[in-house]
Amino acid sequence: MIGTAQKIAIEKTKTSKITSVDFDNLPFGSVFSDHMLVCDYRNGAWEAPKIMPYQPISLDPSAKIFHYGQSVFEGMKAYRDKDHNIWLFRPEDNYKRLNVSSKRMAMPELPKEYFMEGLKTLLQLDRDWIPQSEGSSLYVRPFIFASGRGFHASPADEYKFIIATAPSGAYFSSGKVKVLIEETYSRAANGGVGFAKAGGNYAGQFYPTQLAVEKGYQQVIWTDDNAHEYIEEAGAMNIFVRIKDTLVTGPVSDRILDGITRKSILEIAREEGIPAEVRKLKVNEVVEAAKNGTLKEMFGAGTAAVVSPIAAFGYRGSDYDLPQLEKSYASRFKKRITDIQYNRSEDSFGWRFKV
Ligand SMILES: *Cc1c(COP(=O)(O)O)cnc(C)c1O
Repeated sequence: MIGTAQKIAIEKTKTSKITSVDFDNLPFGSVFSDHMLVCDYRNGAWEAPKIMPYQPISLDPSAKIFHYGQSVFEGMKAYRDKDHNIWLFRPEDNYKRLNVSSKRMAMPELPKEYFMEGLKTLLQLDRDWIPQSEGSSLYVRPFIFASGRGFHASPADEYKFIIATAPSGAYFSSGKVKVLIEETYSRAANGGVGFAKAGGNYAGQFYPTQLAVEKGYQQVIWTDDNAHEYIEEAGAMNIFVRIKDTLVTGPVSDRILDGITRKSILEIAREEGIPAEVRKLKVNEVVEAAKNGTLKEMFGAGTAAVVSPIAAFGYRGSDYDLPQLEKSYASRFKKRITDIQYNRSEDSFGWRFKV
C-alpha cells in the first residue's frame, strides 16, 4: 500500500498534445489528456500505481475481459474555478460504487488511497487540461478490467485499474431529448447486475437503443423485466418525473443504479422543500398524467449531462410532448448542482472536494 507520504511514480510525456486541442469546441469523451494512471493486480495484490503518458495498452488475446466481460467503470468530472482551483464532486461515492460493482463481478476491491491519491496526482499533473468554459469539464474515467489470461470461464487472476481523462463539452449537444419507453427488451433483471457499472450492461443496451434511434428517439427508458409495468431508468441516467409539483423517482434496487446525481437531487429537493417521492412509478401513471395535463416534467440525472430534460416520450406508438416550462425543476437542480461543482456557490452539503 502507498502511504500519503509515498508519492506515485510519474513518467511525464515528452510531447504534450495540449496545443493541438480546440478547447472552445470540445466533443464529449473523445479527446484525451496527456497522462493516465495504471495499476496492476498480480499475485493476489494491487501493485503500486504509476502515472505514464496516455497510450495504447497491450493484452494477451486470452485476457478474460475479451471473453467473459469482467469490467467495471466509473464516470466523474473535474472542474476548474476562476482562481484555478480544481474540484471533484462527491468522489468518495464513486470510489465506494466502483468496489460495489467489482464485488458483483468477482473482481478484487481497490484500496481507497490508490483511487483517491491516484486521482489527485493525475489531476494535478494534467491540471491545464481541465477546461474552464461553462458546461465544460474534464471527464474522468476510472475503470478496472480482467487482464489475466486463459479461456477457462472463471475469474481472472490479474486485473488492471486505469484512470484516463478527457476534456469534454456538454454531453447532449441538441439540448432536449426524445425517449422511447421500452417494452420488449430489458436492461436488468432481479438478482442480476443492473446496479453495477459493469461494461456488459451498456453493450446489452446498444441494439435496443439503435432500434429506438431508427424510430426517431435518442434514448430508451427501461421498464421492469417482469411485466414492463414500471419506469426504471435510462441508459446511464436515473429518471425523475414531476407530476403537478411533486417529484417522483423509482427506488434503487438490484436493477436500478444508485446514481450520485439522483441522490444529490433528492437531498436538494428536501432542503428546498420540493415535495419528492421515492416509489415505484407505473408507466400508466405517467401516460395518464401526460393525458390529463398534470405531467409537468421528465428528466434524466447523471454525471455526464447532470440533468437532461426530456422533451417527449413515446409509448405504444404514440408520442407525448412535455410542456416547456419557464421555471422548471430540471433547470433549478442543474443550476444548484453545477454552481456547487464549479465553486460558484456555498456548498452546505459538503459535496465539493478540493484536489
Ligand atoms: C452512471 C449511471 C447513472 C448515473 O449515476 P451518476 O452517479 O449520477 O453519474 C444512472 N444509471 C446508470 C445505468 C448509470 O450507469
